Amino acid sequence: MNAIAKTAELTEAERDRILAKSALFNPPSLVTADGRRDLVGLSRAELAEEIAAIGEKPFRVKQLWHWIYHQGVTDFSRMSSIAKPLQAKLAEAFVIGRPEVATVQTSSDETRKWLFRFRDRQEAETVYIPDREIDRGALCISSQVGCTLSCTFCHTGTQKLVRNLGAPEIVGQFMAARDAYGEWPSPHGETPRLLSTIVLMGMGEPLYNYENVAKAMTIVMDNEGIGLSRRRITLSTSGVVPMMDRCGEELGVNLAVSLHAVRDDLRDEIVPLNRKYPIAELMAACRRYPGASNARRITFEYVMLKGVNDSEADAHELVRLIRGLPAKVNLIPFNPWPGSSYEPSSGNALHRFARIVMEAGFSSPIRTPRGQDILAACGQLKTESERARKATGRSNLDA
Ligand code: SF4
Repeated sequence: MNAIAKTAELTEAERDRILAKSALFNPPSLVTADGRRDLVGLSRAELAEEIAAIGEKPFRVKQLWHWIYHQGVTDFSRMSSIAKPLQAKLAEAFVIGRPEVATVQTSSDETRKWLFRFRDRQEAETVYIPDREIDRGALCISSQVGCTLSCTFCHTGTQKLVRNLGAPEIVGQFMAARDAYGEWPSPHGETPRLLSTIVLMGMGEPLYNYENVAKAMTIVMDNEGIGLSRRRITLSTSGVVPMMDRCGEELGVNLAVSLHAVRDDLRDEIVPLNRKYPIAELMAACRRYPGASNARRITFEYVMLKGVNDSEADAHELVRLIRGLPAKVNLIPFNPWPGSSYEPSSGNALHRFARIVMEAGFSSPIRTPRGQDILAACGQLKTESERARKATGRSNLDA
C-alpha cells in the first residue's frame, strides 16, 4: 500500500472513530410525553416513513414540507390545502415543535440572544446579529450543550459536554428565531431576508456532531422550504481535520477555522485539540477544502490575547501560514469573563497586527463587539441560568 492510500485509510478509520464517539452523545428521542412524534428535523425520507406509517400517500410529504419549512406553521389546522379530517389525524400522531424560550435579551444595538430549552430541559444559546445598514443579519447557532474542547479563552469551554443537539434542535433554533421576527413564509431567491446567514459558531464543536449538523443544514438548504444557500452558511471548527474533508464534500458550506495561535506549542495550550491535529495538518485540510475561492474565502478566527498571541512575529507567521489560500482573518478583541486569566490586547497591538496581515493582501477586520450589554461572553447566559437554578435549589432534572 502506498503512503497516500495508507493516509486515506487512517483518516477513514479516524473519521469512523469520531462518528462512533459522537453517537454516544446523541439526544433523546423525538417523541413527546404524550407519545406524538415531532416532525421538525426529519429528513424527507424519514418524513415519508412517518406518513406511510399512518396510511397516507407519499404526496403528503411535499405538502407537509411546504407547510412546515416554507410557511412556518406549527398548527396542523392552519394547513389549508389539507382536509380537516386529515389535519385532525396528523395532530393526533404528530407535533411541529419549537424549542422553548427560557430567556431572551435584546441589546441596545439590537443584537438578540436566546437561551433555548429543549425537551429534556437542557439549554443552549442562539444569537441574532443584525446588520445595521441593511435588512439582514446572521444567526449564530449552537451545535452541542457544552463542549469537549476546553479552549482556554472560551467561556463555553468551561462547561463540560452534556450532549449533542439533534437535527430538530439545530433547525429549531433557526425556526424559533424566524418566529420571533415573523419571517414566514420563507423569502425566495434573492428576496432580502432578516435572517440571511447562519453561522455555526455558538456552543460546541459542530464537527464533533457532524451527522446532526449535516442533517439540519440539508433541511435548511432545501429549496422547497427554508431554501438558504450553502453560500450563506458558515461552519466554524477548531480543526477536526478528518471531518473537514467530509464537510466540504457533502455540505460545501463556507468554512471558518478557530486558529487563535500560529505556533504548535502555544496552540496546544490555547486550543488543546491542536495536540491531536497540529497546525500543519489543519492548514493542509484548509488547502484541500473544496469550493474555497476568492468569493468564498476561508475565515480564520483569531482572538487577540494580550502578550500571548498578539506580537508582530505572530502576525508575520500567520501571513506565512495562510499565504496562497483564499483567506480572510477576523481579529476578535478578547471579552473577559469571570475566572479567565487572559486580558484583551491593547488597541495599538490590535491595529499593528491587523496592518501586517492587511499589507500581505488579506482582509483583516477587527470584529466590533456586539451586544456587549447582554452577552459578555458566549456561554454566559447558560451559566447564569444554571446559577439561578442552583440559587433556588432546582436542578436540571427537577426544573
Ligand atoms: S471555542 Fe468553540 S470549540 Fe473551543 S471550547 Fe469554546 S465552544 Fe468549544
